[in-house]
This record gives sequence, C-alpha cells and structure tokens, in this order.
Amino acid sequence: MKVIVTGGAGFIGSAVCRLLAGQKGCKVLNLDKLTYAADLRTVEVVSGRRNYSFVQEDICNKSSIERVFEDFQPDAVMHLAAESHVDRSIDGPAEFIQTNVVGTFTLLEVVREYFNRLDDVAKRVFRFHHVSTDEVFGTLGNEGLFTEETPYAPNSPYSASKAGSDHLVRAWHYTYGLPVIISNCSNNYGPYQFPEKLIPLMILNILHGKKLPVYGSGLNTRDWLYVEDHAEALFTILTKGKVGERYNVGGCNELSNLDVVRKVFDTVTALVPETGCHSFDDVVEFVSDRPGHDWRYAIDPTKIRTELGWTPKHNFDAGLLQTVKWYIAHRDWWEPILKNKYSGERLGKGSVE
Ligand code: NAD
Repeated sequence: MKVIVTGGAGFIGSAVCRLLAGQKGCKVLNLDKLTYAADLRTVEVVSGRRNYSFVQEDICNKSSIERVFEDFQPDAVMHLAAESHVDRSIDGPAEFIQTNVVGTFTLLEVVREYFNRLDDVAKRVFRFHHVSTDEVFGTLGNEGLFTEETPYAPNSPYSASKAGSDHLVRAWHYTYGLPVIISNCSNNYGPYQFPEKLIPLMILNILHGKKLPVYGSGLNTRDWLYVEDHAEALFTILTKGKVGERYNVGGCNELSNLDVVRKVFDTVTALVPETGCHSFDDVVEFVSDRPGHDWRYAIDPTKIRTELGWTPKHNFDAGLLQTVKWYIAHRDWWEPILKNKYSGERLGKGSVE
C-alpha cells in the first residue's frame, strides 16, 4: 500500500508516518509545507528507511501536488495537513481558511482527477481519509457525548475551517463518488507536540519555574487521547473502515483543564523535585477566558470500538507519565523551538482585554 500523508511533519502526522513506515508492505510519502508547527526531527527515526520519503509542498499548490501524485501513484491519502491551533485562529483566521478550506478543496480536486484515471481494480482499493476534530460539533453541556450523528456547530475560526473541510470531503463523495472516510478525534497529547498546546506548555512552564496560566474557571472539559493511540485508530480506519462512513475517535478520558494542569504539575514535580515548585495553588494563575471557549467536548467511540475493534492502549495517567518523561529527556528538541519559534506567550486573546 502506497500512502501519501499530508502534514506528516506535524504532531499527529509524524506519529502516523512512524507507524506506517513500520508496517510490512507499506510505502509512505510525507507531504508537508513545513510551517512553524512542523519539525522533521519528528520523523528522523524513519527518514533513512527505503519505504519512507518526504516532499516539501503546499496543499494549496495544485500543479505541484499533481506532480507528486503522478510520481508516487498512491493507493491512499491520509489528510492531516492543517493549521491546528485555536488561539492562533482567533488572532489570524485567514491562514486557517486558506489551508484548511482552500487547501483541502485543492487536494480533493487533484485526488478526483487522479482517481478518475485509475483502472477499476485500483479504484476499488483507493481511499481518501480526512482527519478532523471533534471541535466541529461545537460545545456540549454537562451531559451527553458526540456521536457520528451529532450536527455540526463550530464556534471558533479553527473549528469552522475544519467543519468546512469535512463538508467538502463529504460532498466530493456524494457528488463525484470519491471513496472517502472521515474521522473526528478528541484532544491529543504526547511526545513532539508543539509547546503552544496545553500539556507541553504546562510541562515546560513548570520546568522553568513559571506560572501556569489557566483560562477562565479552568472547568472547561476535554476528552484526551494519547497520540500513538490516535495514529493506530487512523490506520485501523484506513484499512478496515467503510467508504463513505465517519468514525469518532476518543479515549474516554474526560478531564477539566484545571485537573489536567494539576496532574501535569504532580507528575513533573515528582520526577524533577528541584524545580522548586512545591504548591500547585502558588503557581496556578487564572487568566481571562478564550473568546468563544467551548465548555465541554466528549466523544462516544462506540462505533470504532464495535465495528472496527479499535481501543486505546493508554489511559490518561500512563500516557501523561510517558509524555512528561519524554519532554524531560528531550530538551534538545524543545529548547530551539522556545528560542526560535514560540517562547510561551499568550495567543488568541481576541477582544477580551
Ligand atoms: P500540527 O499543527 O502539529 O501539524 C500540522 C502539519 O500540517 C504541520 O507539519 C504543517 O507544516 C502542515 N501544514 C500546514 N499547512 C500546510 C499546507 N498548506 N500544506 C502542507 N502542509 C501543511 O497539527 P496536529 O496536531 O498534528 O493535527 C493534525 C491534524 O489532526 C489536523 O488536521 C487537525 O485538525 C487534526 N486533529 C488534531 C487534534 C489535536 O489534538 N492536535 C485532534 C483532532 C484532530
């Protein structure tokens, strides 16, 4: 199976590339523009393999993407390339519309023309797997779960742009017969996550003796999944999922942001007592809320569990311990990022202050 992974130098895409490159009979081409969020060190362990290659391209650039398809002749596309940070989408939504909506449209058009030229056997095998987020469903109250039938109600520029891309993918299936599958996943965490996201930001702040900013009351709730479990879910969906279907992916690890930050604090300070941080209450700092901050996300993963047999291998405490140990051991990975790309400042305040 020859697979193009878009966004394969990012957090989740790189976990997918590492997983695919380890599969027998699999050939993977990582197609990535290399934005600020990308890092080729995330795929260093597979970069020397004969079944792995990389090409730097923008999914918005149709003629270049066409050439890549002609050269590689994929059996499948796993589409993860996106602008992915909600706070950045509040500060500058244009890039999100460009990559997530226009880029997905451009890619779908390339895939449609490529698919139409395949013979019948290759057409039966071909898949376009679109990787999306549970944020497209908007917010839950204190009760209930997102199922595959939950109506879309995105509230941030990021989730609206992802919802737009999901709708395009669905339409290309119904209108043009493109063999697509869509998956919507909850919040991921794990090694190689860019330090603007909650868990790595908190780990690094604790290691540096800095305050731990928590939005609003800290009671907004998310459902957390270890990134390698997500990568395995995506591989399961690609190889066993039904064309035209959608699958919700989640870890059933619902936690408030405040509980997540407290668990990160306990885990880091237990492993590195010399941080000098002894009391959580001394370091936590409640800051003005994110505009449009969704209250709660929680996934009902019944369909992927019962129909495809996927279950996550990590509960939150085990995954967090692995993640914290990884960040402690990989200063060489994140120190240059803090120095050159992002130094922990608050993003996405909008018009609140
Ligand atoms: P990320 O920001 O870490 O990585 C995104 C990658 O896409 C980067 O390597 C970047 O260079 C690349 N990219 C951006 N614009 C591009 C373009 N125009 N052309 C080619 N490549 C481009 O994101 P992530 O957290 O790994 O998320 C990957 C996908 O999974 C996204 O589609 C996101 O919406 C979805 N998702 C993320 C989460 C999460 O918790 N992180 C949860 C569910 C779904």
